[in-house]
Amino acid sequence: MSNYTVIKSVIISLIAVSLLVMYLDNASLNPFVFDYTFGDFPPPLEYDEIIPDEKPDYKGVFFDHCELPHLNPWDPTITRFLRPDNKPAPCKPTIKQLTKLENGTLTTSNTDKNSTCAYRCLYPVNDYDLKYGNWANITKPMVPDCDIIETKCFDNHNTTKGYVPFYEFMHAQVYRNDTKIEPEENEEKIKLPDVYVIIIDAVSHSSFVRTLPRTYHELMANYEAIQFPHLNKVALNSRPNALAMFLGKSNRNIEKSPISVGYTSDFQNNSDCRRPLDDDQWIGKRFKAAGYTTMMNDDWALGPMNWPSCKGFVRMGTDHMMKPFQLKIEGRKYANGQIGHNVHSASCKESFESLMNYLDDFITAYPDKPKFTITWNVNLAHSNNNNLYHADGSFYEFFRKNEEKLNNSFVFVLGDHGIRFGGLRHTAVGNIEDNNPFLLLTLPWSLRRDPQISSTVRENAHQLITHYDLYATFVDIARPKSDTNSSKLILHGLFSGKSSLCAVVCSRFYDH
Ligand SMILES: [Zn+2]
Repeated sequence: MSNYTVIKSVIISLIAVSLLVMYLDNASLNPFVFDYTFGDFPPPLEYDEIIPDEKPDYKGVFFDHCELPHLNPWDPTITRFLRPDNKPAPCKPTIKQLTKLENGTLTTSNTDKNSTCAYRCLYPVNDYDLKYGNWANITKPMVPDCDIIETKCFDNHNTTKGYVPFYEFMHAQVYRNDTKIEPEENEEKIKLPDVYVIIIDAVSHSSFVRTLPRTYHELMANYEAIQFPHLNKVALNSRPNALAMFLGKSNRNIEKSPISVGYTSDFQNNSDCRRPLDDDQWIGKRFKAAGYTTMMNDDWALGPMNWPSCKGFVRMGTDHMMKPFQLKIEGRKYANGQIGHNVHSASCKESFESLMNYLDDFITAYPDKPKFTITWNVNLAHSNNNNLYHADGSFYEFFRKNEEKLNNSFVFVLGDHGIRFGGLRHTAVGNIEDNNPFLLLTLPWSLRRDPQISSTVRENAHQLITHYDLYATFVDIARPKSDTNSSKLILHGLFSGKSSLCAVVCSRFYDH
């Protein structure tokens, strides 16, 4: 064979092998492909299962249109309030951690014979209460059967009344108790997409773009996120927006006026606050009924559902709750200031990091289950959006690290409203930003290539939407096999009358 023939054969073989590899591995575009289509599981709600908004009466309404602003995140009138170099002072831990929780195992590094280290579980009860397990000495590596673990080390011989242990700490993990969860029925297993909701309180679209550029890039480039620059908050602060997002309801009347057709509250006589929300149209319940394992965490002893002194959930709203952690830090009945100090400032750890680590643990603990989570970061930016700049690396790393695990997921990253305080808020641009929380949505990989769904979502991303539309979207994604609520679902949304479900994800609901 001549040299030329040899080279030709080698090239042909290489091409053949490459084609074969590409054929066998149809994931060549993206290594983490899951097949998921909307057609594979129970159909969306039927028309008679919901109560849509009535057709509005526009008589007397003169200003019934809205020009969607195209805001400049670096508008010259607000740049003097921006502090991109804002970083917390360098932090050196001031506590030596004597207890450690790793892969579910609790150990102590304390070797002093004159002292003992012990732990107890803090079991969740609801948004206000926790239940203590018994104290047990850490005599060998221990495996606590709970998510939140309090630890202490004390002098064996000190019997003084009121003696305070010389070491107090708290650990968080996601403990999977398979005996508690009902085994799945014997039916064909469908890989439902996970649904993650990650909220950063008080962050507008513009603020997200200017303060979290690495996170923004990661989501846009590697998750092919779709941004919704025209999400409008429905009311002043966290709670009413949370009710709109997760219960699909409004807790106040809106008077008929030249700028509004007028709306009646979905809760009479403040029943959203006076009565528990457990049996209401809480979206976590729908996901649970659809076979999802659920989790909720926020860095606030109170929370968006029970602030300032509302009932909230009187049972556990989700399968996993990090709430005992926050109750131990600042809950009225349970607070231990020393533990709060030790787990955060003395350990150089911010509360949003604790939340994101817990979410990370949850994702890892249930690879085989469809998951629904709500993570609400309150502290980070609530009073000052300049605190976001330094957190960019942390969120970026979270998303980068979890690219594969979040590949079959809807990931909603958003704000509840924009910044409500400070100099920027008092500018005209800041006023609009407050109304305009950010929202980025990533679709399960296989839906990104679905021409109908993907183009509908991209089309809707240019429209005005509210948190009601998010609720309708969650309802559409969850689709429990049997109705969890005998009463019809109330569904609002700026797309209502046409299609609230279409607001974010699809256009099938009103196709009937
Ligand atoms: Zn808020």
